[in-house]
Amino acid sequence: MKTAHDNLSYYRATATPYEPFPRFEGDMKVDVAILGGGYTGLSAALELAEAGYSVAVLEGETVGFGASGRNGGQVCTGFHQSLSEIEKNLGRDTAETCKDVGFNAPKLIADRVERFNINCDLKWGYIHAAEKSSHVPELQEMHEDWEKWGYTGSQLYDKSGARDVVGSDIYQGALWEPGAGHIHPLNYCIGLAEAARGLGAKIFENSPVLDVDSGTNPSLKTAHGTLSANFLILAGNAYLKEKVPYLYRRIMPVGSYILATEPLGENRAKGLIPNDEAICNTNFIVDYYRLSGDKRMLFGGRATYSGLEPNDLGSFVRPRMLRVFPQLDDVQIEHVWGGWIGITVSRMPHLGRIGDSTFFAQGFSGHGVALSNMSGKLIADAVRGQSEKFDHMSGFTPPPFPGGRFRTPLLTLGMFWYRMKDILS
Ligand SMILES: Cc1cc2nc3c(=O)[nH]c(=O)nc-3n(C[C@H](O)[C@H](O)[C@H](O)COP(=O)(O)OP(=O)(O)OC[C@H]3O[C@@H](n4cnc5c(N)ncnc54)[C@H](O)[C@@H]3O)c2cc1C
Repeated sequence: MKTAHDNLSYYRATATPYEPFPRFEGDMKVDVAILGGGYTGLSAALELAEAGYSVAVLEGETVGFGASGRNGGQVCTGFHQSLSEIEKNLGRDTAETCKDVGFNAPKLIADRVERFNINCDLKWGYIHAAEKSSHVPELQEMHEDWEKWGYTGSQLYDKSGARDVVGSDIYQGALWEPGAGHIHPLNYCIGLAEAARGLGAKIFENSPVLDVDSGTNPSLKTAHGTLSANFLILAGNAYLKEKVPYLYRRIMPVGSYILATEPLGENRAKGLIPNDEAICNTNFIVDYYRLSGDKRMLFGGRATYSGLEPNDLGSFVRPRMLRVFPQLDDVQIEHVWGGWIGITVSRMPHLGRIGDSTFFAQGFSGHGVALSNMSGKLIADAVRGQSEKFDHMSGFTPPPFPGGRFRTPLLTLGMFWYRMKDILS
C-alpha cells in the first residue's frame, strides 16, 4: 500500500542534485560509526571529520529520507519547556546549558549555511499565534521568560497587530521573534552531507543497519558488511523503530503531514504572510506553516498517533489550511506528504549514552530542526572528551511510554483528550 512516505514531497521535487553516496559493502573500521543520515547523524559526522576523526555514516535510504528531509522547515528557538521551568526542575546549571543550546541552535544552522554555501532559502522571523484568548497569557509568559534569560527583540501583538502580520482573522494575539526562521529542510540536509563529505566523512546510502552492537567493541552490520568503530552514534530517531529497545520505549512515532499549494505569486503570498516568517499556533496539536522560496503555502497540521496513516492526505490537511486562510479555497494542492516525529513523554529531547562507547539523540518532539543539528554537535564534542553540555542535556532522560504493548492505543486516547482541549479551551 502507498504511504505518506511514498508521495513525492515538494522538497524532494525541488532537491539540490548531488552525486549519490555509495552502498556500504565489505568490512571497515573507523573511529566513529554513525547510524542515520539525518541532521543529528550528519551534524556529528561533519564536526568529527573536521576534528580529524575517521567517520562513516550508514543511511538506510538516502540522506534526509527521515524527518530531516520532510519537516516543516521551521527553525525554532528553545524547547517545549521554558528555561524557568527547567531551572525549577533541574537547577541553574542545566538551565544555563539549555539557554546556550536552545538560543544558539538556530545560529548553528545559519553559520553552516554561510560557511558551506548551502542553498536552502534560509529566512529569519517567527510568529507564535494564539487562536484563543485563553492562550494569549502563554505568549506573554514566553516573552517574559525570553527577556529574563537574555533573548531580546521579540514583540507581542494584540488581535489587530496579529492581523497585520498574518493575513487571517482567527488570531487573538501573536508573539514575533527575530532569532528563529525557516529553511528548505532537505536542501539544508543535502548541503550538510556534502559539507561532511568535503571534510572527509564517508557516507553510505541504501545501507540499512540490520544489527547494532553497542558493547565494548561497537559495530553496525548491514546485509553487505560490518562497520566497526571505537565509538557509535545512534541517530535513527523515530525511523530506528524497534532496533534498539531501550531507545524505542522512550519515544513514540507520531505522523505529521504537510501540503504544498501551487505557487501563489508574490502579491497573493504577501497578503498571507507579509514579512515571510514561519508561523505556528499555540494549540497542543499545532498548525505550522510558511511560504516556500517560490511562494507556495506549505501548511502542516493534524497528527496521527495510531501508527496508521490517513488514506487521503490532501483532505486530511487542506481543511486546516482553509480554517486559517479561507481565501485559498481556489488554490490547487500540488504535493502532500508526511513523516514520523519522535516525541518523548516530557517533550524534551532524549540524549544519552549506552555503555561507554555509544551515544544517541532522539525525541526532539517536533522541535528538532535546530536542536538535532545542535545535538549532533554536542555528541561530537562528547566523543572528543568535552561532554559537559552533553551531560547536562542527558539529564532529561524520559521515562518509557506507559502501556507496554498497549502504548499506542493509550497514546491515541490521550491525544484525543488533548484535541478536545484544543477545541474547548
Ligand atoms: C512532517 C514533519 C514536520 C516537522 N516539522 C518540524 C518543524 O517545522 N520544525 C522542527 O523543529 N522540527 C520539525 N520536525 C521534526 C524534525 O524534522 C526532527 O526532529 C529532525 O529532523 C530529527 O532529525 P534526526 O536526524 O534525529 O532524525 P531523522 O531525520 O529522522 O533521521 C534518521 C535517519 O536514520 C535512518 N535510519 C533509521 N533506521 C536506520 C537503520 N536501521 N539503518 C540505517 N539508517 C536508518 C532513517 O532513514 C533517517 O534518514 C518535523 C518532523 C516531521 C516528520
